[in-house]
Amino acid sequence: MELRERLRIAPDTAVDLGAIDPASTPGAPAKADKKWAAAQLTDIGAALSRYQEMLYAGAKAAGSRQRLLLVLQAMDCGGKDGTVRKVAGAMNPQGLHIVAFGKPTEEERRHDFLWRIRRALPAPGFVGVFNRSHYEDVLVVRVHQVVPREEWEGRYDQINAFERELVEDGVTLVKVMLHISAEEQCERLLQRLDDPTKHWKYNPGDLDERKLWPAYQEAYADALARCSTEAAPWFVVPADRKWYRDWAVANLLRETFAQLSLEYPVGDFDVAAEKHRLREDCQ
Ligand code: AMP
Ligand code: MG
Repeated sequence: MELRERLRIAPDTAVDLGAIDPASTPGAPAKADKKWAAAQLTDIGAALSRYQEMLYAGAKAAGSRQRLLLVLQAMDCGGKDGTVRKVAGAMNPQGLHIVAFGKPTEEERRHDFLWRIRRALPAPGFVGVFNRSHYEDVLVVRVHQVVPREEWEGRYDQINAFERELVEDGVTLVKVMLHISAEEQCERLLQRLDDPTKHWKYNPGDLDERKLWPAYQEAYADALARCSTEAAPWFVVPADRKWYRDWAVANLLRETFAQLSLEYPVGDFDVAAEKHRLREDCQ
């Protein structure tokens, strides 16, 4: 079975994150480990780079509007940065468009929540990676009631409409929640505190957020259930094991690319005639 099928959230179905073991490794062979995943990632990265080149060639030579957008969401320490480093890092950097979304700036707050997202979309031919996304506007914003309930409640439909519009414009979305356990987050936060070179990543506010774990899990479950559509599905990747997380995300991208049936565009010139001209010129 394809990993896409295994990890996908079915549309219009309630989601119970508690039933998905963050330490599990669905779809990986029993012998799989860190070393195995590293070797796999090299191969998958090469395949992804080739696919992305075809995407770019299609945009450049044939005016295709196709592009792929990986959306990464996770709790703090969920591994978004590591996934970008390992998975995007396995691809050709020329074809990537990577954007991280933090707290909205003053200018961003003057516009609707999708404004900054629209401006950050990958151009045709590129692979975009969103490290956090418009989903923060139904996650952190919902948990902290940054806007009243009526407002964030309306956003699920807005997001679905927005994503449908993207799909119609050639964007293939791969939305991934990196699912870690509260215990693993605790471990990772402790590691950050134990390593002075990681202190820049630590924010005392992370502990306050951690106390809101159940509210966040509830908000995640709702976002997954309400916004996993046929057009733009959500995938939940168990992420306590970093090697599995990287392999799974890379593999989801590879499977998604394979479904696009990409091909290199055929040249609109006479190859034999061009060769002839070139030979004459080279003499
Ligand atoms: P980091 O990823 O550690 O750099 O943190 C980014 C912070 O920005 C996180 O605490 C997010 O919850 C916060 N953030 C991202 N998007 C939004 C948003 N739309 N509204 C409020 N906070 C946000
Ligand atoms: Mg942080």
